[in-house]
Amino acid sequence: MPEVDWSRLKAQDLRALADNNAVVILPIASIEQHGPHLPVMTDTRIGQEVALRAARKAYDKRPTVVTPVVWSGLSEHHMPFGGTLTVSHSTFRALLHDLIVSLTRLGFRDILISNSHGGNIIAMQQILDELSEVVDATMVGTTYASEAEPEIGAVLQDQDGVQHAGEAETSMMLVCEPGLVDTSDLTALTNLGDGPSFLKAGRASYRWRPFTHLTGNGVAGVPEKSNADKGEKLLEISAAALAAIITDPETWAAPQDLRGQGIGGVPFRK
Ligand SMILES: [Zn+2]
Repeated sequence: MPEVDWSRLKAQDLRALADNNAVVILPIASIEQHGPHLPVMTDTRIGQEVALRAARKAYDKRPTVVTPVVWSGLSEHHMPFGGTLTVSHSTFRALLHDLIVSLTRLGFRDILISNSHGGNIIAMQQILDELSEVVDATMVGTTYASEAEPEIGAVLQDQDGVQHAGEAETSMMLVCEPGLVDTSDLTALTNLGDGPSFLKAGRASYRWRPFTHLTGNGVAGVPEKSNADKGEKLLEISAAALAAIITDPETWAAPQDLRGQGIGGVPFRK
């Protein structure tokens, strides 16, 4: 299997990948508290693992390469627990803009921004909206936990999907970094929090709140239900979901223009 990790390749290898119209996965994540049992790298490490596995799965159909993870994400809501490094929205936006422009200057045209942190989702979409008309590339944003949600839910016993430092993330970290997971008393950590009230107001309205509103120990979930077998399945399921996006020509196809003759209007990037 060819190397898919950008940082391990040499410049000429990356020039060849650009010439072969490779897809670039640009993972974005966080460094933030993940309860008393998981390291702060959790989202970054899981995002890296899912992206590398996805690139290897896709490679035969479409060469794919994975940049280093952008670990500096939007984590203001986790700051009260300590251990968290966050950046402002403007910094996050500028960083993604500059990295995406770098990729296009190197000749890459299809870019999958692969997010593994809930706090980045809305900003990721906004950034892609803003850049789509000014950057000479097709950009797609994905969050593995959403893209693979039904399959992930079928593996989990006590949770419907990936939640913070719960059954899923703990299981995946038991595969990625087993020496960094403190399994000494996972039972004591179960904390389902208030769920729906976090970041919500009214029936369908938004209010920002810190994560302390949801949980007292920084966990939202059931870490005691974790194990490495489950983690391996979750990583594979998530990577397969991303590989499916990468290898589907529809993902990268130019937008339709259904306006027809004589409608006129404003041109858009194809
Ligand atoms: Zn996480």
